[in-house]
Amino acid sequence: MAKRDTAFWVRIANYRNKRVSNGLSDRSYILHYSQPEPNSGCWLWLGPVNNTGYGIGRKRDGTRLAPRLSYIAFKDLISKGMVVCHKCDTPLCVNPDHLFLGSMADNVMDAHVKKRHCYGEAHPLAKLTENDVAYIRSSSESQRTLSKKFGVNQSGINRIRHLKTWKTNRDPSDISM
Ligand SMILES: [Zn+2]
Repeated sequence: MAKRDTAFWVRIANYRNKRVSNGLSDRSYILHYSQPEPNSGCWLWLGPVNNTGYGIGRKRDGTRLAPRLSYIAFKDLISKGMVVCHKCDTPLCVNPDHLFLGSMADNVMDAHVKKRHCYGEAHPLAKLTENDVAYIRSSSESQRTLSKKFGVNQSGINRIRHLKTWKTNRDPSDISM
């Protein structure tokens, strides 16, 4: 076998080191980049933050919201259409015990009813109450009239009328933990 020169072993060592740092397990990664806050129990994200105040973590194939990474690392996979929500109302928090999954519709409802901040898509409907939604659903008034009445744009009214998944009497137990 050919004798390897020093440069070869340096290259191997660098390659291995790089793999180690990239390969920090997902849990260690979350722990490494967060700081426990003793009073609230929140784990505050120390890495980059996006313009809505949520932590951003890196994965090989791009960036992800840190709470999502934490949820996946410590709890479970997130099925399609589900969003990660905070019990603690702290967007920077990545403590898996403070995170739960909700559907987009739960998300809108929850953010409104419990004043929790969740994220997913932007949801202009969050300012409406359950009663407003019921009213809009049953009303025969035009989108335009309802739009003015509730201060929600017409496409928002349209979404409420067609958003089948909006549950008005949601059982808290149907949020999967
Ligand atoms: Zn928290």
